[in-house]
Amino acid sequence: MMHLIATCLLLSAPIASPKEALRVGLFRLFQPQQLNVRLATGEAFFLSVGNLNQARIQAGEMVRIRKTGRQLTLSIMDAYGRLKQTTMAQEARFTPAEAATLEVNLPKKMTRVVRGVLLVSAAAPTSRQALQIILQTDREAAVAAVVAAEMSGVEALESLKALAVVVRTFMVANAHRHAKEGFDFCDTTHCQVYRGEDDVQASTAAPRIATAVQSTHAEILQFHHRAIEGHYTAVCGGLTATPEMVWGGATHSGYPYQAVACQWCAASRYTKWERQADAASVLAALSAALQMQLSSATELSTVNYRASAVVQAVIIKDRGRRVVVSGDEFRRAIGRRIGWNRVLSPTFTLERRAEALIFRGRGFGSQVGLCVAGAAAQAAAGRSYKEILKFYYPQTEMDSD
Ligand SMILES: [Zn+2]
Ligand SMILES: [Zn+2]
Repeated sequence: MMHLIATCLLLSAPIASPKEALRVGLFRLFQPQQLNVRLATGEAFFLSVGNLNQARIQAGEMVRIRKTGRQLTLSIMDAYGRLKQTTMAQEARFTPAEAATLEVNLPKKMTRVVRGVLLVSAAAPTSRQALQIILQTDREAAVAAVVAAEMSGVEALESLKALAVVVRTFMVANAHRHAKEGFDFCDTTHCQVYRGEDDVQASTAAPRIATAVQSTHAEILQFHHRAIEGHYTAVCGGLTATPEMVWGGATHSGYPYQAVACQWCAASRYTKWERQADAASVLAALSAALQMQLSSATELSTVNYRASAVVQAVIIKDRGRRVVVSGDEFRRAIGRRIGWNRVLSPTFTLERRAEALIFRGRGFGSQVGLCVAGAAAQAAAGRSYKEILKFYYPQTEMDSD
């Protein structure tokens, strides 16, 4: 990491202090073998291979990277697609000049615009098959990207500030969860931290988001001087849930979560929802998750968490067999096979109607922590971000990381 920072200084790229640097493992789902890197915005970027040659790449040019055995083959193409230079290496580093951004393209799969230094290597510690692609970005830039993705359409500055603090708290609390693989966060739903600059660039609120992130710089939520988990949910549906209700077990931070009554999201279309799914596909999804064949006569019922409406468990009865899965396992099993737009939150009921299953529930997302819709409504009503954070996390202190 020290080496990287030295490189940044050399090239006068934006400098992140080690504390605020964030390493994101990109394209983890795809086992990439090939990658194209171009300039997205700005003047140029630098390609360094080992410590030897350094090439300045300008708009229109492209670097193609292929995995060849344990090496990388790097080809620099000019604006007309003609090969300028080819070289082999074990690792390549792409450093933007000034505030330039990079366009990273996985052929036939996806393209992402990213901000930061990109490291590509042939030898991934946990997967010898694929390219290891790591973006070293600035944590505050990543906070802005997540806020833009989660709060599209929200303009109220104080709610953007509140979410910025919660997202930053999540990053501090969960950094190094992929330490063995050589980065902090992956780019799948497992971490869901950084999906690139697209959301920021698309957001009409981009200047306000930048203000929200800067004016809360380094602020995080703590309990007994430790960062809390930093959960948030799109819509709580009137009452937030605790992590133990939704995921079971205890939290790392020791923060005493409580269900918070929130009327602020009452106007959301997700406060109360109804969805339905074909009963046979739900049973097929459960059969796959449980690795047992469920018949069409299977009965499903829910058990709620103590006095709340959060589903703690789903009881599955079929031909004398009885299996219990947690509410979270049930949602995941259905989400993976049928889609995440059926059981929108942990608070739901089940009703069998002929060939269909009807799900009725409240809220959207985990229902844990800050309610994004509620925070937006509170800010619109004139509450400050500190008041909003106190509302959803009453026993936390705010401190600088
Ligand atoms: Zn992850
Ligand atoms: Zn709410």
